[in-house]
Amino acid sequence: MAANDMNTIVSLAKRRGFIFQSSEIYGGLNSCWDYGPYGVLLKKNVKDAWWKDNVLSRKDMVGLDSSILMSPKIWEASGHVGNFSDPMIDCKQCKLRFRADHVETEKCPECGGELTEPRQFNLMFKTFMGPVEEAGSVAYLRPETAQGIFVNFKNVCTTSRKKLPFGIAQIGKSFRNEITPGNFTFRTREFEQMEIEYFCKPDEAEKLYEYWKNERFDWYKRLGIKPENLRLRDHDKDELAHYALGCADVEYKFPFGFSELEGIANRTDYDLKKHIEHSGKDLSYMDPQDNSKFVPFVIEPSAGADRATLAFLIDAYNEEPDKDGTRVVLNFNYRLAPVKAAIFPLMKKPPLKEFAEKLFEDAVKHFPVEYDEVGSIGKRYRRQDEIGTPFCITVDFDSIEDNSVTIRNRDTMEQERISVDAVIEYINSKLV
Ligand code: ATP
Repeated sequence: MAANDMNTIVSLAKRRGFIFQSSEIYGGLNSCWDYGPYGVLLKKNVKDAWWKDNVLSRKDMVGLDSSILMSPKIWEASGHVGNFSDPMIDCKQCKLRFRADHVETEKCPECGGELTEPRQFNLMFKTFMGPVEEAGSVAYLRPETAQGIFVNFKNVCTTSRKKLPFGIAQIGKSFRNEITPGNFTFRTREFEQMEIEYFCKPDEAEKLYEYWKNERFDWYKRLGIKPENLRLRDHDKDELAHYALGCADVEYKFPFGFSELEGIANRTDYDLKKHIEHSGKDLSYMDPQDNSKFVPFVIEPSAGADRATLAFLIDAYNEEPDKDGTRVVLNFNYRLAPVKAAIFPLMKKPPLKEFAEKLFEDAVKHFPVEYDEVGSIGKRYRRQDEIGTPFCITVDFDSIEDNSVTIRNRDTMEQERISVDAVIEYINSKLV
């Protein structure tokens, strides 16, 4: 049985150390979350898989890590200072604030009170650089990583020797003062994005837009999301930004309904042209083949690391009846599983303990492993199932005699006997 309510996931995430409420001992901070020991491994694996598949495995992609604080002029050029706002309405009675497009009734959904007219509310966090808090020292926490890529387009072009079409990819924190955060880590005010700006000739943009839509949709499936829980939704004409020629969302069937995981857009030459206009710098591209000079078009696949991590967690969750009641198991794709193997001595005494510890020390050089000698083997299996560990290895008295161990598969629960010398290679071969 899959997880069909968010509370099951929130409680597992807390109980097993994936995600905690931020600032919990002080009563918590609304919409902020901390990744615990298993959560940090899971989210890192999601980001590493994205980086490996989109950057390291491709000849036409390079990476970037731009700063979070950037010149405020960038946000004027991109339109974020003027337009990055949502219409919001306030309840005059309970003072809660809602996004106007999230409220379907005339009255406050919380208390039934009277609502104000919609007002624009800028989503950027504002701060000050340096010791003086004055208009000239205003800075913004970036609301997206994309602009860091656009303003480095020329630097990357001249230093990387990449020819069109090519992309620049970046993973990093973004901040938005969302009016209505919620649904656990789905919508927060501080989050991580995984963004690509893929630059191309204008006449190739349509074809590449289709390519990236499919490529990004398939990535989630390749990493184990069930196809029936994913859909690719093309935006209607009236949802499109005025400069975009096309936009589609990869959506996941969260317990609260199909919602956006990632947006893929054909943004034309809009962003580079805006920066040319505002900075006065030439950001056009010179085609070495025919010496033509033009401003490239860009296809933008823009994903959220936290949303993707949440979707992988929800999709992996399964409850299965077994002889002791219910087995809770996270059937993560092996690449994403926080811990790859657990090693158990049947009993915590010599010579089993030493044998198991030696295997742990060898294995931990290759992938994250846990060593557990507490409780019955059945209980130890349960603990690993709940965090999604693909392989459990038991060292017993026969191991001492014949140098073999039992390896148990998380998904099939089948057990095999293999030589201890083959364990690392066996697991490594399954992790690719
Ligand atoms: P939404 O409509 O859900 O507010 P958006 O269309 O504004 O999202 P984009 O600006 O396209 O989102 O951002 C790209 C990706 O960044 C989103 O698909 C999502 O995965 C992630 N993201 C955006 N805002 C948030 C947020 N507040 N919390 C977590 N992730 C976010």
